Amino acid sequence: MANIKYFSDVTGEAVQLKAPYGMPNEEFAARWPGIKGLRYDGYSMRVGYPTSGTSGVMPVTRMIEYKSQPSLHECNAKCLDGKHNGKCECRCGGKNHGFGMFSGLLKAA
Ligand SMILES: [Zn+2]
Repeated sequence: MANIKYFSDVTGEAVQLKAPYGMPNEEFAARWPGIKGLRYDGYSMRVGYPTSGTSGVMPVTRMIEYKSQPSLHECNAKCLDGKHNGKCECRCGGKNHGFGMFSGLLKAA
């Protein structure tokens, strides 16, 4: 079974989120102006709490499908540059997948 992982990149670091839920679009826009999150439905955006730590709710910016039997190869540019809602099966566990669009990692490489 596919395992979906949710991440937020608004702090510049990939933070894994648990059990996302929908926050009304207006509230989302007021809390995080300019952040392009992932839609929950036509009226709300996906948000969730970090899996560790005590910080508050964060916007989901990536939704990664992690394969149930991942090959666990080393992360590479293909992973970093992957889609923010794509599949990952490398060691990062989805953490780096699509992160390239949020960081300067690709440019630096
Ligand atoms: Zn990866």
